[in-house]
Amino acid sequence: MQVYSSIAALRAGRRSFTEKLGLVPTMGFLHEGHLSLVRRARAECHTVAVSIFVNPTQFAADEDLDRYPRALERDLDLLQKEGVAFVFTPTPQEMYPPGFATSIDVGPVAQPLEGALRPGHFAGVATVVTKLFNIVQPTHAYFGQKDAQQCAVIRHMVRDLDIPVQIVIGDIVRSADGLALSSRNAYLNETERSRAVMLSTALSAASTKIAAGERDPARLRAIIRDTLAREPALVVDYVSIADPLTMQELDHLIDGAVVSLAVRVGTTRLLDNCVIQF
Ligand code: AMP
Repeated sequence: MQVYSSIAALRAGRRSFTEKLGLVPTMGFLHEGHLSLVRRARAECHTVAVSIFVNPTQFAADEDLDRYPRALERDLDLLQKEGVAFVFTPTPQEMYPPGFATSIDVGPVAQPLEGALRPGHFAGVATVVTKLFNIVQPTHAYFGQKDAQQCAVIRHMVRDLDIPVQIVIGDIVRSADGLALSSRNAYLNETERSRAVMLSTALSAASTKIAAGERDPARLRAIIRDTLAREPALVVDYVSIADPLTMQELDHLIDGAVVSLAVRVGTTRLLDNCVIQF
């Protein structure tokens, strides 16, 4: 497995791979969610590349950039065992040299939900993903449904800009009690960790109602909020039932709708979602 931290070295190494190349962009501190994407890429592509880059431009000034968990040596060890061909680990200076000024605005799909609460977040994501695509030149790129709006933003951008990369979305990987895996779960203490289970419990409560015939998004949002309220220490940022392509709120349920929520547990912000299938 080759590890490149410079763009020039990666480009030189990339030339030896001519068939399907799958890229899994990550911010590191890898868990089974990331590895599920790596395994899917291994199954579908001849070569797998992973990027590990805690992208400063997608963090607002008051967010957790400095304390974001990092474990590069452990990550590289895991990726080696998964048969990854190369890993790109650039520094912020390599990605954003002095004078760097371009930013990609993906438009309305990036505005609600995470976009509203984290101004500039999706411009940072769209710009770094475009750079990673241009540097690594993958044929396929793998993202997790865990970040549902990010998936919608990237799909939209790839379509609008005719980027020749096939986007593949992997299912959410959860721990046995339902909590969606996330690098940020490392911030949770034991009490917070047990409270965090209520996110997936609330989504399950909505799914049960939908299976029983409920079709009113307003009532479903209320059921989710009521369930989350069983843990009074949770602070709800939003509960959304949205169109999966536009991320605009729905007033009637459609097949494929994304039920998503963002909740703060202490100082940690957690996301979860599920996709409605009738
Ligand atoms: P991150 O390192 O948090 O930026 O995540 C890198 C990629 O892994 C993103 O496409 C995430 O959506 C995806 N991912 C994160 N957590 C999970 C999970 N629990 N299941 C599946 N994919 C995930």
